[in-house]
Amino acid sequence: MERLKFKSSIFIDNVFGMCPECNEEAFLVAIVSDYYKCTNCGEDTRQYVNGHIKYLKLNDVDREVIKKHI
Ligand SMILES: [Zn+2]
Repeated sequence: MERLKFKSSIFIDNVFGMCPECNEEAFLVAIVSDYYKCTNCGEDTRQYVNGHIKYLKLNDVDREVIKKHI
C-alpha cells in the first residue's frame, strides 16, 4: 500500500464531519491545530468543541492564525 508523503512539520489528522462551507459531510484534514480543510470543497474551517464538535466558517482572525502557522 502506497502512503502519501507529507511534510513532517504539518500536523495530519483526518476527521469526518459536516463542512459549513459546502454543507456536505466530508473528510476534513487538519492543517494546524483546530483548523481543518474540507476535502470536498477545499475551504478551511475551524473546529469548535462545545459538548459536541462543530465546524465553523473562518473569520479574518482565523485566517491570520492559519497564515502564521503554515
Ligand atoms: Zn466543504
